[in-house]
Amino acid sequence: MNRAIGIFAHPDDEAIIMGGTLIQLAEMGWETHLICATKGEASTAYDRDYVKKEDLGPVREQELLRAAEIMGVTKVHFLDYMDATLVEQDEAEAVEKLAVRLNALQPELIYTFEVNGISHHPDHKTVHRWMMKLLHEGKLNYAPEAVYLATVDNRAGRLKNGLLMGSPIEDITTIIDIERVADQKAKAILAHRTQMKMLINNGLIVDGALQRNHRHEYFIKLDGSGQPVQLKEKEMQLPAKR
Ligand SMILES: [Zn+2]
Repeated sequence: MNRAIGIFAHPDDEAIIMGGTLIQLAEMGWETHLICATKGEASTAYDRDYVKKEDLGPVREQELLRAAEIMGVTKVHFLDYMDATLVEQDEAEAVEKLAVRLNALQPELIYTFEVNGISHHPDHKTVHRWMMKLLHEGKLNYAPEAVYLATVDNRAGRLKNGLLMGSPIEDITTIIDIERVADQKAKAILAHRTQMKMLINNGLIVDGALQRNHRHEYFIKLDGSGQPVQLKEKEMQLPAKR
């Protein structure tokens, strides 16, 4: 089927964390999907001149759909949890919800957060935990080719507000150069207009462009059952379609 899926917590996680990878997978002919656990209703970094607090959920939903279109994503699936409540949700139920979606789509490539959720956001860490539980408990009715935990290089990736923390370079297995699609990634990030102030304040976007040292995307590769894989050298290419 040649499908890839990214599973994240809030609208904007996908574009910031792996926008360049999503764009390039789609270019290579992968059918790409996203699962977003919430609609980002609890954001405090939104643009108050542009949207009222009570409209944040529906507006951010539209922003994610627009970003997805820019990145060539085929479909966005929402789990409809409330933002900032994932820790409190019933874990078994959430794992089941995710399993139903994944088993229907059977994506060969699965992307989600690394253990610390990159930024240590509790929602991010919870999505990671749900996904690992799902994989380790054998909830999938098929064998994915690989699972990638999205991260950043913690030597270079830290933004002013500490948003991107990341992993030690020795834990990172996969480094994808996104220079060629950096402008397209910036457009996808900027589609999250309610988050503009945060995106500019943290230095990710400078003068409408992606900051120079954010032109690689980093992953920790696991096998299809969520176990670590040993690679002789770092993987620098996206997987070819089967
Ligand atoms: Zn997030």
